[in-house]
Amino acid sequence: MRTHYTAEINPSLDGETVRVCGWVHDIRNLGGIAFLLLRDREGIVQITLIKKEIGKEMFKEITSLPRESVICVEGRVQRSEQARMGVEILPASVKVLNRAKTPLPLGVADRVGAELDTRLDNRFIDLRKPEVLAVFRIRHSLLAGIRDALMREGFIEVHTPKIIATATEGGTNLFPVRYFERDAYLSQSPQLYKQILMAAGFDRVFEVAPAFRAEEHDTSRHLNEFISIDVEMSFTDEEGAMGVLERALVSGIERVLEERERELETLGVQPHLPELPFTRITYDECVDIASRKGVEVEWGEDLSAEALKAVGEEIPTYYFITRWPMECKPFYVLPFEDDPRYGRAFDLMFGDREITSGAQRNHIPDLLRETMVKKGLNPKNFEFYLRAFEYGMPPHAGWAIGLERITMIVAGLKNIREATLFPRDRNRLVP
Ligand code: ATP
Repeated sequence: MRTHYTAEINPSLDGETVRVCGWVHDIRNLGGIAFLLLRDREGIVQITLIKKEIGKEMFKEITSLPRESVICVEGRVQRSEQARMGVEILPASVKVLNRAKTPLPLGVADRVGAELDTRLDNRFIDLRKPEVLAVFRIRHSLLAGIRDALMREGFIEVHTPKIIATATEGGTNLFPVRYFERDAYLSQSPQLYKQILMAAGFDRVFEVAPAFRAEEHDTSRHLNEFISIDVEMSFTDEEGAMGVLERALVSGIERVLEERERELETLGVQPHLPELPFTRITYDECVDIASRKGVEVEWGEDLSAEALKAVGEEIPTYYFITRWPMECKPFYVLPFEDDPRYGRAFDLMFGDREITSGAQRNHIPDLLRETMVKKGLNPKNFEFYLRAFEYGMPPHAGWAIGLERITMIVAGLKNIREATLFPRDRNRLVP
């Protein structure tokens, strides 16, 4: 239908006939002349309607169109000093494809911001705003850059089941579903399956897929359904996994900087491109930093929000926290041989925000069973997983990063809901 996107209409097309299609963003009617702003995915172009030239009838019909109606305009491009982008279109014909009802549930052109809940209730129209679309194009480029880096490093993209029989780490935050005559759950993580693929000899895999968490709390950084980018790799340790992660993340941010200049400008943000390698500090060092700033952490406990804030003030960029106590990490983490109170786990942080957790995994079946029992899990429920360790499991490591969490950081968003099209949270299941 169209010959050009609006952003492609530039002064070099002066005199040419083009067809553009999109939404009526705004109309300013000055009597004898009117300016219609036509918006599509790529931008906005000015359509100049001159009553004398197009006739009274057509002038009236077009200028009385409600905002957000869908039209196609065919006309001649003309250089113009006054117009946006230095160019305007003088229409020969305007085809109305769909008239919008009035009033709109949510303004698109208006500068006044609506509440997030109102925006999400009317998400189909909220997503039309250039600054909202910008988030999803940044997210797209970020994921493309990460995916490319993983493929360059020899990772195979896989998809593991999302309907599962056993919890990954105990059953507290699982959504139950009916599976014919049995109970099943929505997967909270592909952890166990990606490890089984290491036993299967896939060597390096990644998965980009939804993860479901029945977390009751309602925060600005948790969703009940999010996209998890998961990686697992064999014949390596946690340091190898951290290397892949930092290179993948830098590749994602570089891609955003290359492809999304306009979107970043629309949002008024400039993401920080970190240098390689990222800083690594241990859990114990974090405890010390926090304690120097008056925040006490009991050894073995997860780092509290206050403790992370203290550390984040010292390192306001991307960094790894390594060498965690086994007590606060999942059963599948491999303990250090020299001091088994510590595990080969790491978190990737941005200031005080956690964005990834990973580890070298425990590939020794007896030790794995023992750790499960210590953590109050019944190895019987994990037989399908443990069996994979008995017949040749290589040492392996991996991580998981939440796509919405990094999108939030790169696009400078305050609430994780803004980084997902149709968020699922404690109160929201529609749209
Ligand atoms: P948190 O402590 O922040 O709740 P977690 O320790 O439960 O996260 P993991 O289970 O290690 O997180 O998940 C790996 C990554 O997946 C996290 O670092 C984060 O980027 C993302 N993630 C986890 N839970 C959520 C969630 N509810 N909403 C969005 N992203 C999440």
